[in-house]
Amino acid sequence: MSRFLAVLFVLCFMSCNTNKIKIKEVPIKSEKVVIAHRGASGYLPEHTLPSKAMAYAMNVDFIEQDIVLSKDNVPFVIHDIHLETVTNVAVIFPNRNRNDGKFYAIDFTFDELKQLNVSERFDLATNEAIFPKRFPIFKSNFRLHSFQEEIEMIQGLNKSTGKNIGIYPEIKEPEFHQKEGKDISKIVLDVLTKYGYKTKNDNCILQCFDAKELKRIRDKFKSELFLVQLIEFEEEELKLEEFAEYADGIGPWIEQIITGKDKNGKWLISDLVVNAHKNNLKVHAYTFRADQLGGFNTFEELLNIALYEANIDGVFTDFPDKVIDFINKN
Ligand code: CA
Repeated sequence: MSRFLAVLFVLCFMSCNTNKIKIKEVPIKSEKVVIAHRGASGYLPEHTLPSKAMAYAMNVDFIEQDIVLSKDNVPFVIHDIHLETVTNVAVIFPNRNRNDGKFYAIDFTFDELKQLNVSERFDLATNEAIFPKRFPIFKSNFRLHSFQEEIEMIQGLNKSTGKNIGIYPEIKEPEFHQKEGKDISKIVLDVLTKYGYKTKNDNCILQCFDAKELKRIRDKFKSELFLVQLIEFEEEELKLEEFAEYADGIGPWIEQIITGKDKNGKWLISDLVVNAHKNNLKVHAYTFRADQLGGFNTFEELLNIALYEANIDGVFTDFPDKVIDFINKN
């Protein structure tokens, strides 16, 4: 063999080898979508920036934001339209509740909201944690933050890490906001546009339980974003064709897909996923919690049936690391 050919051979061998190593090092991206439900909320208080950063570090596909408006129209990130189950609002602003006893976020300016401490979710009546094995209630220092602040953190991390992790905002209770004289969808869509989330290619999925509002987002606002219609009732399962006219996916709860057990103890799977797929709708189901198994022996059993027997496309989970581990092993 000539020296030239020998060198060529070695180079080829090296490059083939490098390719092999590369293939091993880069995990094949799963088709299944992992959504950090309120952040890595199984480990840190839901919807805090630290819980979002932790979820980011777990390499999720999307991080969820529930959006509510303040009195001065700042979209901020919290699960409920009232504040008292995850903050110390009752201590800081004791007389600001409405007649039903609740402290509505919309009655507070964003500056006031920033003064509150955020806690792991607790039961108002007993003052006990809803999830006793999680982060303790009212420890450390967590604050509420705006939707823009969270987008800037995720986009900042995308820049500094070179990853491209998406956002998955939910417009909360648009009808309530409308009654209070506020168009939450317009405000959220304006923020999304400003930060570059405009089309299905922009790594943003927008979700809402209110079908009328999601349709309005498509029809009136002409949004080209990926839209997910959240559902919770049986009668909604019959409206898939209607949803498919404006939405790209549905977000049912687990029990709408895995409906129970037959007399032999085998899990029963509804036809919701099959029907959704026939209508070209993706299915992202909620909420997968390793500390709330609902009759399953293990979290892996639940994930296996939902992801591979029922064939859902994505999961909202409080424990993104466990779901990603499971998917990578399967
Ligand atoms: Ca949500």
